[in-house]
Amino acid sequence: MISPVMPTYARVDLAFERGDGAYLYSTDGRRFLDFASGIAVTCLGHNHPYLVKALVDQAHKVWHVSNLWRIPEGERLAQRLVERTFADTVFFANSGAEANECAIKLARKYHDETGNPGRFRIITAEAAFHGRTLTTIAATGGYKYTKGFDPIPEGFDHVAFGNTNEMRAAIRDDTAAIMIEPVQGEGGIRPASLAYLRELRQICDEFGLLLIFDEIQCGVGRTGKFFAHEWADAAPDVMTVAKGIGGGFPMGACLATEKAAVGMTAGTHGSTFGGNPLAMAMGNAVLDVILEDGFLPRVERIGQVLWNRMSDVVARYPQVLAELRGAGLMLGLRCVVPSGDFGTKLRENGLVTVGAGENVVRLLPPLIIGEGEIDEAVAIVEKTCREWNS
Ligand SMILES: *Cc1c(COP(=O)(O)O)cnc(C)c1O
Repeated sequence: MISPVMPTYARVDLAFERGDGAYLYSTDGRRFLDFASGIAVTCLGHNHPYLVKALVDQAHKVWHVSNLWRIPEGERLAQRLVERTFADTVFFANSGAEANECAIKLARKYHDETGNPGRFRIITAEAAFHGRTLTTIAATGGYKYTKGFDPIPEGFDHVAFGNTNEMRAAIRDDTAAIMIEPVQGEGGIRPASLAYLRELRQICDEFGLLLIFDEIQCGVGRTGKFFAHEWADAAPDVMTVAKGIGGGFPMGACLATEKAAVGMTAGTHGSTFGGNPLAMAMGNAVLDVILEDGFLPRVERIGQVLWNRMSDVVARYPQVLAELRGAGLMLGLRCVVPSGDFGTKLRENGLVTVGAGENVVRLLPPLIIGEGEIDEAVAIVEKTCREWNS
């Protein structure tokens, strides 16, 4: 008999009743160090006093009014995002997939509006992940996500991640945009080289394409910069954000330059919930913390500490672990042994992680992680490796 909750997930038989900072407490009374952060979402950990206060304060004011009205909290958040990024304007959505839907619509509309109505195709990378709506599974590509859902919306071409020759060769007269994750998340924590990101910018300029960066997983401080593409100094025309931006409150955003958003006029796009006062209060609260002086440099520094200590373990257990990769606090342990089993053992030893493609275990701790917690995580990984060998 089907479960009342539609069985679309292979869930672990474990539930958490409470979280505090980098720790989660299960209903059966165990404590776990959380290096998953709800898949890069709870960027300030659990039960963060500032976020709790922001949520409660806003809950006493107003939750939802709809986009029939001005929403001052949203105007403030958009203004702050615009000030701190390449972008001139922001659309608020409720999830990553919806942020990408906005980016895809925007790219088609841009060409329609600027005299090239036939340009609609978007080139994405192999092993990408852009979401689970019909259009974003088309963007994602691959049998695993698209099987059984035909007809898949048309208009996406896939090329090898990191290969600019393939990218150039895939551009056609009807290509509208390139959409890339600066660090692939679901694909297995695969960072693009900075040279690749810069060359994508050049290619887009050369062919009149829009450059879309999907920073839904790698953005909002995860790599030690506000957004990952800042490392490359290669600004996109459009960027999508979600996961960490609400600190655990569901929200997404599509940021764009004024030029790229030329067609996004009143009536072209919308969302009932998007940008509601409660979500906007949480977005602003997250930015209050993340953009505070010294916060992002600390993420970079602590990421380096995690990198150094974890590298050591990887080097000592080559029969278990093949490679550490990633940036900042978005790291991947590529395993020799099956990564799913390794993740299970880590959890049994008290460390929660997330799987990813290419036999990788993702390490996505909250950005507020301290050295003591890093030591604890490294010790659990080491212990798990040791147990594997014995
Ligand atoms: C998670 C993710 C998405 C989809 O976000 P949802 O909120 O699940 O719709 C899209 N792109 C990337 C890079 C992601 O990591």
